[in-house]
Amino acid sequence: MTPTQPLNDAPLDLPDDHPYGRHHLPYGAIKVGQEVHLAVRIGDHALDLATAAADTPWAVALSEPQLNSFLELGPQAWSGLRGWLQDALGNPARWGELEPHLHAVEGLTLRLPLHVADYVDFYASEVHASNVGAIFRPDGNALTPNWKHLPIGYHGRSSTIVISGTDIVRPVGQRKAKSDPQPVFGPSIKLDIEAELGFVVGGSTPLGSRVSVDEAVDHLFGVALFNDWSARDIQAWEYVPLGPFLGKSFASSLGAWITPMAALVDARVPLPAQDPEPLPYLQGSTGAMFGLDLTMEVRLNGTVISRPPYAGLYWSPTQMIAHLTVNGASLSSGDLFASGTTSGPEPDQRGSLLELAWDGTEPLTLDDGSTRSFLEDGDTVTITATAPGPGGVTIALAEVSGTIRPALSSPQGAVSAGS
Ligand code: CA
Repeated sequence: MTPTQPLNDAPLDLPDDHPYGRHHLPYGAIKVGQEVHLAVRIGDHALDLATAAADTPWAVALSEPQLNSFLELGPQAWSGLRGWLQDALGNPARWGELEPHLHAVEGLTLRLPLHVADYVDFYASEVHASNVGAIFRPDGNALTPNWKHLPIGYHGRSSTIVISGTDIVRPVGQRKAKSDPQPVFGPSIKLDIEAELGFVVGGSTPLGSRVSVDEAVDHLFGVALFNDWSARDIQAWEYVPLGPFLGKSFASSLGAWITPMAALVDARVPLPAQDPEPLPYLQGSTGAMFGLDLTMEVRLNGTVISRPPYAGLYWSPTQMIAHLTVNGASLSSGDLFASGTTSGPEPDQRGSLLELAWDGTEPLTLDDGSTRSFLEDGDTVTITATAPGPGGVTIALAEVSGTIRPALSSPQGAVSAGS
């Protein structure tokens, strides 16, 4: 096959500190002619797994256009393939065998590398939950009484999760400000972002079983940056008493490359103290209870508006899995759950415009002099992140980006635009 662009002389001869070096190896899906192939990113190239790994024990799963079958194979297969890749990529004598399967990332068309089975969004940042509580319920306690007893979440809409780079059409719906005597209908005027980390789950479980915190480690395949676009005005009117619905379900964006958990071993950090002590089913061994030292950067039209830290989130991702299965709900390979908006304690560490501009009372000023409380049509939001890798190197998570397009003027318009 013909690579998309000519390769340089030694595409696999990477410096040890390359953010997409051998220590990282995130998974994606690339267009190759008319087909979609799974791939792993190495440096500025994508290694086509459908062809490069055709003689490995995982070849059948890797011949599919999405990761779900490979996810179902479980952690031994995940570490097996990773070891095979690291051996091959670390041995210059084997580079010649791999190079025919490399494609320059620049110019590649990427696809979502998994069929998202079920999608759950959690709410694990105490700072974010407190900020939202203070804004939405100024007369009550900022944290709801259940918040420190269970990882709060809701089931979202998996079919509207889109790959980074997909345009986001401004949603239309009902809203009712305090000053409105009746609800009004129209395009959202409080369109927002939520900077989150998405976790990809592998290994299905039977209905009626549950997964402990310790067992959950073996179901965590990897992470990608996640932007849970949110229409605050639709959300505020609809969410009582059953929670988020149309204010969230129109679109969420996922980074194109899934960073394996195995690449983030050096990024693990202890959780904050959990007080009160969680119920026993939310407890696990020390190694299964962790946060991640991962720092995001949120850009709005190129201006950095926030640097939210993931470290400090209250609940471990393993506790989130234990909680979402404690009632007997099964896991499916390809399940995705998100952390909830990541907000740190400083004003410039908040993960949503709702918090950054404090519901419109403190608008942000961008580098071009314009101001924002919420998103305008044409705005582009890009979230990137870095985390520590082995030996002091840095891992760069693939960006998640999206541009806001105007609301469609009629339902007929929506049909024709989508067909
Ligand atoms: Ca969210």
